[in-house]
Amino acid sequence: MRNSFFLIIMAGIICLTACGKQDNYETQSRSLFAMDTYMNITTYGENTESALNKAEEQIKELEKKWSVTNDKSEVYAVNHSGGSSVSVSKETADLLSFSLDISRITDGAFDPTIYPILTAWGFTESEYRIPSETELISLLKNTGYEKVKLSGNYITIPNEMQIDFGAVGKGYTGDLITETLKENGVTSALLDLGGNIQVIGSKPDGAKWRLGIRDPFEEGHFATLEVSDCAVVTSGGYERYFVGDDGETYWHIIDPKTGKPAHSGLITVTIVGEEGKLCDAFSTSIFVMGLDKAKKLWKQRDDFEMILVDENGKVYLTEGIKDSFFLNQMHENMQIEVIRR
Ligand code: AMP
Ligand code: MG
Repeated sequence: MRNSFFLIIMAGIICLTACGKQDNYETQSRSLFAMDTYMNITTYGENTESALNKAEEQIKELEKKWSVTNDKSEVYAVNHSGGSSVSVSKETADLLSFSLDISRITDGAFDPTIYPILTAWGFTESEYRIPSETELISLLKNTGYEKVKLSGNYITIPNEMQIDFGAVGKGYTGDLITETLKENGVTSALLDLGGNIQVIGSKPDGAKWRLGIRDPFEEGHFATLEVSDCAVVTSGGYERYFVGDDGETYWHIIDPKTGKPAHSGLITVTIVGEEGKLCDAFSTSIFVMGLDKAKKLWKQRDDFEMILVDENGKVYLTEGIKDSFFLNQMHENMQIEVIRR
């Protein structure tokens, strides 16, 4: 049974460590299942075992705080508070504060209170269904980031409302464990937190990391991105969806204005930037907002770059990333437009 985005395999997080050499450099790789996804961290250099242990411990702790289904979690306590204030840890308060900022910046395209709508569509239990218009209208009354109150480390939400960090938690986790790994001497690492990629430094030989960008139309990658010291986060409808009895495809990214899967014309959104939490939050929001609003947002800020693909297969790249982006051989005929300031 799939309970939530942050479903915990309570019986124990699967964890594997592998050591080896790549191009004569020591590597250590740690795989685990956490936050409802497979994660893999590869560090380069000697003596990284203890840094990896700390990072793994930290992931487990964050998962315990943010799980929607674990009745010991902070998010669970908030969601079952019956309208009273709940004291939470600094990480949870920071993440909520950040999420509410993004909701305001994106005019509500990003909304951490959308969880009851996802449940109605069956995305939280993998028991998919198409809710009626009346059901959605009634559920939408219990959503809305404006109703969430954060005062210091205290969160208050109205009874019936629920919060969830499914669209931003992995990105923030990436930031926190990047910090931990760096503090513990790691200078070169590749973090794959269920498709949220974060890289520390460059490859040990000094070359940039080469990351494949997933093809939204079929298996495999359509392009390669060369990066160092940054996060690369993708949101796409193909990541979690079902086909209804009506033959339509319904995916897991919801437009908070309608309560229905977002159809903005974009089918995949990749955000590149220094901060994982920002990339994660913007990848989800821009998927909802669509091309024109994405361009406007990008022009107002200087902390992210984007790679967008629309439903016709046209690629849009912001100018800061264009020289690091390469279409793969099989996709060389894809049309590219560069977005400039
Ligand atoms: P991501 O893969 O980061 O784009 O996050 C997708 C997940 O975020 C979904 O599975 C939902 O749990 C949640 N979600 C869906 N729509 C929204 C939205 N408009 N705002 C915030 N979270 C959302
Ligand atoms: Mg996201």
